Amino acid sequence: MDVAALAKLGGVKKYGIDELFFNAGDPGHEMYIILRGRVGVYLNSIDGFPIMVATLGPGDFFGEMSLLEGMPRSATIGAIEDTIVLIINENNFEQVIAQQPGLAYRIMKGISGRLRQQNDEIKQLKQGAAVQTRTTSPTAAASPAPAGAEKASPPPVLDATLFPPGHKSYQLDAAATDDVLLFDRDVECPVCEQKFKVKNVRSSKLRLDKVDNDLRQRFVDFEPLYYMVWNCPNCFYSNFNFEFKQVLEANKKLIIEKSKTLKGKFNLQFSSPRKIDEVFLTYYLMLQTFQVGKQDPSNAAKVWLRLSWLYNDVNDEEMYRFSSQKALDLFKDSFFNARRDTSVEQDQRMSLLLGELSLRVGEKVEALKFYRGAIARKGGNATINRQAEDRIRELKATMQEPEEESEESEESK
Ligand SMILES: [Zn+2]
Repeated sequence: MDVAALAKLGGVKKYGIDELFFNAGDPGHEMYIILRGRVGVYLNSIDGFPIMVATLGPGDFFGEMSLLEGMPRSATIGAIEDTIVLIINENNFEQVIAQQPGLAYRIMKGISGRLRQQNDEIKQLKQGAAVQTRTTSPTAAASPAPAGAEKASPPPVLDATLFPPGHKSYQLDAAATDDVLLFDRDVECPVCEQKFKVKNVRSSKLRLDKVDNDLRQRFVDFEPLYYMVWNCPNCFYSNFNFEFKQVLEANKKLIIEKSKTLKGKFNLQFSSPRKIDEVFLTYYLMLQTFQVGKQDPSNAAKVWLRLSWLYNDVNDEEMYRFSSQKALDLFKDSFFNARRDTSVEQDQRMSLLLGELSLRVGEKVEALKFYRGAIARKGGNATINRQAEDRIRELKATMQEPEEESEESEESK
């Protein structure tokens, strides 16, 4: 590719390491060709964990579906090195193609490859759906109305307090060394369009230590949960940083309306290092956003899961259980009822998580069923299969039930 010639067409832009091009779901009308550097491609799974699925380097391009079809971004793209790209839009597309005829061919090849991949995924999905009905529907039937289900509980009283009964004030600060891993960034609120500053994590500097059974990622000397929520100080719209721009048009007015009841009550100036009480506030404000209008239950589920980890960190056993139950009920609701277009692997991860949450609230039989549902022989992820098998073995060792025998023989048929 003739970089110098392309650069003359304009639209060359530099992205610093860790800078995001866009998040999955964002609207957009440009495609990008990498002239120098490297970017990571991230997908958000249903449980809210961005997973890097690929990296792209010089000569690679991305975002063509948004340019050609006006489709929202299908993945999150972030620079993992200082990167220089050529931005192609409606205005310079024809010129670029005229100068680089080979590029048109590569874009077409890219699109056809993607279509083939989508077909494969649809096939996998069908298989996955069949497996899931067989292995997990008894679970769903066994618990038609979980006690703490979100639908049954009344909406939280806004005026009294943001926090549920039992929530306390806690003493825990972020590490003083966090600043090294953070940088300030301006973002624009997608609801009220006000600009404000957020702390962005230099994800390239994070070192993953391990992943817990409940999918919590542990990093060396750093806790990204503290900075994962962005709150607009003007309208209080709040969301995960990796989904910040994803808000339904119809919900915007409702959020502005709701902000009137929140104004003046909360301080969104954070200490340095950040205090855990400030972090709790960011998450509970996000729950307020997720109670407005129509919402997928997985949104609030992702919040409660993270709240449960935070409560675990401050050793509040009661609130840990409470938030785990909330996460479990909402994830179940989303897993069994919401229309999903997830891969077999994502369903496996979710089953594993549901098993773990069931175990936390003492539902061992339920947990066992979910672990079994996490095993997918066809098109499944082998690591998750092994993980689920390990969990089944460990759990069984703590259980002695006669009905185990019959379930076992049924399975081996
Ligand atoms: Zn706002």
